[in-house]
Amino acid sequence: MAYTTKNYPTKKALVEDFKAGKDIYVYNPGLGGEIGSQRVYLEGPHYPKPHRWYAAGQTKDGKLVSIDGVKLLAPKPKTDKLTCYDLGPFDGRVWLCDTCETNYPGQSGTVITWAESGTCDGCGKRIKAQREGD
Ligand SMILES: [Zn+2]
Repeated sequence: MAYTTKNYPTKKALVEDFKAGKDIYVYNPGLGGEIGSQRVYLEGPHYPKPHRWYAAGQTKDGKLVSIDGVKLLAPKPKTDKLTCYDLGPFDGRVWLCDTCETNYPGQSGTVITWAESGTCDGCGKRIKAQREGD
């Protein structure tokens, strides 16, 4: 059995922090050794209070990365945006979407501004501004 460094009174409190993306570290009380990356069986609250909750999960480098039966929401997809590069007096300006920006060989151009809608000069993709909740 292992403990979380924060002494959660209930499993609900643990799950809430986990879902909120907080870092939760796990340790072995007593002589259990380093937790590292392994399957863990958690209990709480800490001794000498009587244990009232149990949970199983997985750690990576001592940090809790999964709890059995708890699904994490997928991270929100990155909103596409266009970046405008100033390539100098002869090349002019180019607007690039996030993907083309990453692959663009001439990234020495100066970034002028960003826009959340318009057309990419690299792939021709139309970027439409996305508002929260769309
Ligand atoms: Zn593009």
